Amino acid sequence: MIIHLIKQTGIEMANQIAFENKAFLIEKEDKFVLISSSSQKEFDSKYNKYVQDSFVFPNDMQLASKDYMSTTREIQWGNVKIGGNTNNTVMIAGPCSVESEEQIQESSALLKELNLTMLRGGCYKPRTSPYSFQGMGLDGLKLLAKMRKEHGLAVITEVRDATHVEEVIEYSDIIQVGAKAMYDQGILRACAKTQKPVMIKRGFGSTLQETVQCAEFVLSGGNDNVAICERGIRTFETKTRFTLDLCGVAYLKEFTNLPVILDPSHAMGHAYGIADLTRACTAMGVDGLIIEVHPDPTVAKSDASQQLTHPQFKDLIKTLQPVATAVGRVIV
Ligand code: PEP
Ligand code: MN
Repeated sequence: MIIHLIKQTGIEMANQIAFENKAFLIEKEDKFVLISSSSQKEFDSKYNKYVQDSFVFPNDMQLASKDYMSTTREIQWGNVKIGGNTNNTVMIAGPCSVESEEQIQESSALLKELNLTMLRGGCYKPRTSPYSFQGMGLDGLKLLAKMRKEHGLAVITEVRDATHVEEVIEYSDIIQVGAKAMYDQGILRACAKTQKPVMIKRGFGSTLQETVQCAEFVLSGGNDNVAICERGIRTFETKTRFTLDLCGVAYLKEFTNLPVILDPSHAMGHAYGIADLTRACTAMGVDGLIIEVHPDPTVAKSDASQQLTHPQFKDLIKTLQPVATAVGRVIV
């Protein structure tokens, strides 16, 4: 249940009511927001004089629900806004991993050439094997910060576990919670305490409900700036790396107020399908796309097979705006 209390309730009384209802309490400029379990359907009438609004829900998808907020939440992502009344589809691009200054400079130059503003690049890589490249860590984050300073780009980079979450929060403009890290409570709770935007990637074995509930951990701690990224789920199919769940995307758009970002690169796992998939994703009218592109994918230290070359990415970009226009969107 979500209850809005008028500001005149005062912080002490709001805390007492939150305590009695085992609720989270978020103080906003104009109200207090209490969030308790969705199993609570009623509220003690003795507090009625403080209540501005109340909302009940069939399950714990509450702050993220369209029943609570009927439009997609508006989030400032670097220099661009997504969600709300905007019709922006933000294009995030860059390598899977930050590998060297030379490499990330080349990626930044590509974005600048295409008038794009959002650079991706992992520094803490959640690899399937301990013997593979694990990322440059803090040195990589510093390179991303340098790209922001030199080129005015906003940077998004992933957090693998709670040991370096504070570093990622400090250095990134948008915090990416990786698919394998989605359930990490240390990460989610740290993300709840900042106001920086967070993009949670859906775990490849996670349901939509579970994914949205991870977003609820961040939202209920007071950070309103959460988006979900669909990056493919595991099915019986093995010819492609994962299966991009576009039905799930339709569900998220219909029932949640979270901006939705689509990641065709990790879903496909092979460069050959990325352009077609990206156009299909764009046609769904989503809030953003995240694509892996590398100056020389053949020598990439992670996800080599799925990264586009710069010419391939440029060709793709040329074809996207007409698709976006057809569904009332602008690629930014
Ligand atoms: C990535 O974005 O490089 C990545 C590791 O993605 P995911 O968490 O979706 O596997
Ligand atoms: Mn990757």
